Amino acid sequence: MIIKKSELKGLLDKLTQQYRVYAPVEKGDNILFEPIGAGGEVKLGATTKKPVKEILFPQSEELYNYSVSEEGLKMNSNLDDTKTVAFGVRPCDARSMMLLDNVFHNDQYQDVYYLTKRKNTIIVSLGCSEPESSCFCTSVGGGPFNSDGSDVLLTDIGESYLAEAVTDQGQELLGKLGLEAADADTKAAAEKTKAAAVLTSEVDITGIKEKLDGMFSHAYWDKLHEKCLSCGACTYLCPTCHCFDIADEAKDCNGCRVRNWDSCMFPLFTLHGSGHNPRTSGKERWRQRLMHKFNYFVDRYNATACVGCGRCIKNCPVNLDIRQVLAEVKVQDTGSEVS
Ligand code: SF4
Ligand code: SF4
Repeated sequence: MIIKKSELKGLLDKLTQQYRVYAPVEKGDNILFEPIGAGGEVKLGATTKKPVKEILFPQSEELYNYSVSEEGLKMNSNLDDTKTVAFGVRPCDARSMMLLDNVFHNDQYQDVYYLTKRKNTIIVSLGCSEPESSCFCTSVGGGPFNSDGSDVLLTDIGESYLAEAVTDQGQELLGKLGLEAADADTKAAAEKTKAAAVLTSEVDITGIKEKLDGMFSHAYWDKLHEKCLSCGACTYLCPTCHCFDIADEAKDCNGCRVRNWDSCMFPLFTLHGSGHNPRTSGKERWRQRLMHKFNYFVDRYNATACVGCGRCIKNCPVNLDIRQVLAEVKVQDTGSEVS
């Protein structure tokens, strides 16, 4: 199918009549993934400052509220089943949601808040014709036109987008839009665009998991964290990070339970009620961040918890670059490990 750029606005307007539509929009100096209304301006083709995971796992989410009165207890659960389209998602962000599915939907735990939104959300991704210098998705199992986690994949071919359905849900959405079928020239142009999208940045992570198996007590962690400010930007902006905290907010006979993003880079993250903190310094926290993404997550779900989006690289105030860290880990001598 073809979406002509000149008709994109009309198509998005049409979608907003049936769905809540999220798309990248310009807000001050940032591009954010936000709900749009009819006639809304979108900024397709950019990596949003914050990750798209926010639409399924918001930074702050009221799970339920309650009130107590003479009639008893009333509870109201905030399950959000609004039919939603996420339009213009980067393939790395779409892939991150597939990884998050492992966490929020597994044998031991089913998160109804996440899953209700997930089941009702269609992901329309836009492949990356010009990957940024901080992108390294191909090193961690993705690619600028990888369709993992997408329902529809768009390819920019100049005046139009080629729209390819990846799932039945995506096929159904395209069917509703009354689009023109793509001819052979359009498909050939899309293949050319895909082939030309080459990343300038790579890191070879072969053997990283096994290397980390033997590095828990390695001296490498002593230095790595020294310039880290524990600001948490790397984890807040990461599409695969999923730590959260639950807070009860109550006044008189009313209250609510709220889930907020948390970060393993914060000193208080692991502070016990007893006052003991097993991760007292940045050393333990940086080790945890890397181990979780490239070792524990692999053990648990057979995938790295990094999609190579580059957000942590672009936004770290002290330029700690995870690609460099991975390259350094690879050459550490695990024979010199101290216990
Ligand atoms: S660790 Fe960094 S590069 Fe990897 S997914 Fe998270 S923010 Fe993106
Ligand atoms: S963004 Fe940089 S300084 Fe902030 S916690 Fe992460 S590594 Fe540390």
